[in-house]
Amino acid sequence: MSRILDEYLASNLQELKENGLYNEINVVEGANGPEITIEGERLVNLSSNNYLGLATNETLKQVAKEAIDSHGVGAGAVRTINGTLDLHVELEETLARFKGTEAAVAFQSGFNCNMAAIQAVMGKEDAILSDELNHASIIDGCKLSRAKIIRVNHSDMADLRQKAKEAVESGQYRKVMYITDGVFSMDGDVAMLPEIVDIAKEFDLITYVDDAHGSGVMGKGAGTVKHFGLEKDIDIQMGTLSKAIGVVGGYIAGSKDLIDYLKVAARPFLFSTSLTPGDTRAITEAVRMLMASTELHDKLWENGNYLKDGLKKLGFEIGNSETPITPCIIGDEKTTQEFSKRLMQEGVYAKSIVFPTVPKGTGRVRNMPTAAHTKEMLDRALEVYEKVGKELDVIS
Ligand code: PMP
Repeated sequence: MSRILDEYLASNLQELKENGLYNEINVVEGANGPEITIEGERLVNLSSNNYLGLATNETLKQVAKEAIDSHGVGAGAVRTINGTLDLHVELEETLARFKGTEAAVAFQSGFNCNMAAIQAVMGKEDAILSDELNHASIIDGCKLSRAKIIRVNHSDMADLRQKAKEAVESGQYRKVMYITDGVFSMDGDVAMLPEIVDIAKEFDLITYVDDAHGSGVMGKGAGTVKHFGLEKDIDIQMGTLSKAIGVVGGYIAGSKDLIDYLKVAARPFLFSTSLTPGDTRAITEAVRMLMASTELHDKLWENGNYLKDGLKKLGFEIGNSETPITPCIIGDEKTTQEFSKRLMQEGVYAKSIVFPTVPKGTGRVRNMPTAAHTKEMLDRALEVYEKVGKELDVIS
């Protein structure tokens, strides 16, 4: 065993713990629904991305079991060898219809999807303009591509226009991309896609939208691009199958040429085993459900608005979220962490998010209501918020 590695790990762990940055992971006992059990305690769960409650949906469980019976538990190989099952083709055709694009390709996770697609499309002779609050998988995908990365101030269209102009007019780059989250998960704000498309047209930028938090939530379920009616204007739409869709995986939707190209150039497609049959079948069914009815989407928004109104009435600062994601801004890091701990002791599971994930002094507890919460659960959560808020002097 390496002594150098032992020392390296021990000193890093100690430093993280001393700085309060070591994350103790809670174990959920049983299913991840609107209520969860941790250490035997039943808690209202406001920390899951299972926005539509589909992770425990009975129909999806049933079709997954049937697919396991007919196709087995694993796909057996990478897509290009013999890991492309009829179930994958059916899923991808369904995803393309869902997104309003010519084609789509599924990956094993949303994270892996960003790593795959950005690297496949962009290279060291290119530049990527990237919103400063983009998700870690976008940041890593950009790094992997070896393109020049130019950070753009968050949703600052003047900054984007200026930096796009400089990059394009410099003549240094073969192509320039702008990449952004569709919905930003820390504050629940939405990318300004119509303005982005105008700037992209002016400078011939490639546009890439990661709609991990928008699919199932925005555009009556079809996502942020559909919400703005920009299916013909965004080159690359990325989404996860792990959040509103409730299962696991990610996808890229776009032109037939884009998808054909990813199937020969995206490394996780070429070198990592494909989604399992059970997952694939459940995802297809979930997407079909979203296309057939907006009932779950509508319930999600009803619950989101109910929680927001309740927290606002109690006197909490809830930011400017445009989606059901509801941050409750507490302030300093210590009080925020204490707040989340007290919520948990009182029966509400909502995680604190503090510096460096968000700016110093803007620590918040992030709430993610879902379609599966009942009014009784949300009322219970609001009662606990009131109690803890008064106790810690966050509200009067
Ligand atoms: N993009 C964004 C914006 C995300 O929030 C996440 C998940 N946190 C991902 C990509 C990665 O998706 P997955 O969890 O499906 O790998």
